[in-house]
Amino acid sequence: MDKRTLLQQFAAYAPHLETQLLEKAYDYSMKAHTEQARASGEDYFSHCLAVAGYLLEWKMDLPTVCAGLLHDVIEDTSITAEKLRLTFGEEIMRLVVALTKLDKVQFSSRDVAQAENWRRMILATAQDIRVIIVKLADRLHNMQTIGFLPGEKQERIARETVSLYAPLAHRLGMFELKGELEDLSFAVLHPEEYLDIEEKVRALLPAREAMLAEFRKMLEHALSKSDTPHRILARSKNLYSIYGKMQRQKKPFEEIQDALGVRLVTDSIANCYALLGMLHAHFQPVPDTFTDYIAHPKLNLYKSLHTTVSGPKGEYIEVQIRTEDMHRTAEYGIAAHWRYKTGEASKDAHLEEKLDWLRQWIEWLQDLDSPREFLDSLKTDLDLYQVFVFTPLGDVKALVQGATPIDFAFAVHTDIGHTCVGARVNNKMAKLDTELKSGDIVEILTRKNSTPKKDWLKVVKSARARSKIRRYLREKGIVA
Ligand code: MN
Repeated sequence: MDKRTLLQQFAAYAPHLETQLLEKAYDYSMKAHTEQARASGEDYFSHCLAVAGYLLEWKMDLPTVCAGLLHDVIEDTSITAEKLRLTFGEEIMRLVVALTKLDKVQFSSRDVAQAENWRRMILATAQDIRVIIVKLADRLHNMQTIGFLPGEKQERIARETVSLYAPLAHRLGMFELKGELEDLSFAVLHPEEYLDIEEKVRALLPAREAMLAEFRKMLEHALSKSDTPHRILARSKNLYSIYGKMQRQKKPFEEIQDALGVRLVTDSIANCYALLGMLHAHFQPVPDTFTDYIAHPKLNLYKSLHTTVSGPKGEYIEVQIRTEDMHRTAEYGIAAHWRYKTGEASKDAHLEEKLDWLRQWIEWLQDLDSPREFLDSLKTDLDLYQVFVFTPLGDVKALVQGATPIDFAFAVHTDIGHTCVGARVNNKMAKLDTELKSGDIVEILTRKNSTPKKDWLKVVKSARARSKIRRYLREKGIVA
């Protein structure tokens, strides 16, 4: 990509904005990195440009794209934060500083350095969500060019990507990106399995495409009588998720239920339900597969109607129905919430509210002093496999996998957590370290004046419970 293409791509979605700063960032970064090369032998600047390219694809605002171009300038060249502030202003300087790793020399080990850098970045993200978005673009390009690094380094980076960056992308609703990061890591960490699954998926492709084409034809025919606007899209396959399924179900590739996936995109919420009705009228719905994420959006803002129907030959077809807006959110997640009005870029007015969970979560994480504990909690909390547990009144609480009644108690209310002495799970007395499962109904028994125990720290799994317990014990001088 050259400068002209970069400016054109930006102007394509933000035509009213001045692009002088973007031009300046382009020249500045190119000049700063002149002496450097990537492990691939390419100019270092090509990396900065690739990162900016993803940010353009996600239609990010001007300071973010500038920060993408400049993200390695402080870390890798002699340019200081102060210099950046003078040239590009406070906002861009802050973004770049947040993206700059701390100097390795000040840490006792690589683990501590990694944990400390993560903590810094997560805290900066709480102030400005764009930090993590640039970081994800950076990681995506590093993963795409990882083949040029020595094997041991490749593995370390791939492990970090799959355990932290991909789940974070998922939490932010950036599903496409999450799948890409996972598959790139998968190829590094389990090359044989990767090639094996890739080959098997490829072998099945013609048959699947034929089936999809047949279903699409029938669907078009079924929808032709109405004038509901719609696009039909096929869904791409995430190899790592197939691998994960094989691992979890302990089944070979051939026995994995891998339904065909189709997306229906329309213009309004009312038409989503209209399309659902037409779909169910023409294709047999599979019982218990309908989920309404429009009425009940996921925490990461994802909305769609999900249903599974029987296709022409009785095969299962998973259908997701959504508006164009929801589709953008599903593809780009949090990054889809920057809006471009005439003359100015601004965030979706509700973005701040929608990010409340992130801020809350970071607050809990902030209470964990040891970098190790911080990173462990971050990993556990990012775990995709959440369990859903009910209060006796039917309220649902989403907990991390392995969560105990104590985690649940703190999820309900801090006071309940503090005074918790026992639990009934599905109407039976249960120990406080019992691992809860999805669907469990949990009742917490409390006693007035009872207090958190130090041992609980060994049992709890969520950052929230850990932070509340620790804070209590610290105030009482029980732990440092
Ligand atoms: Mn970089």
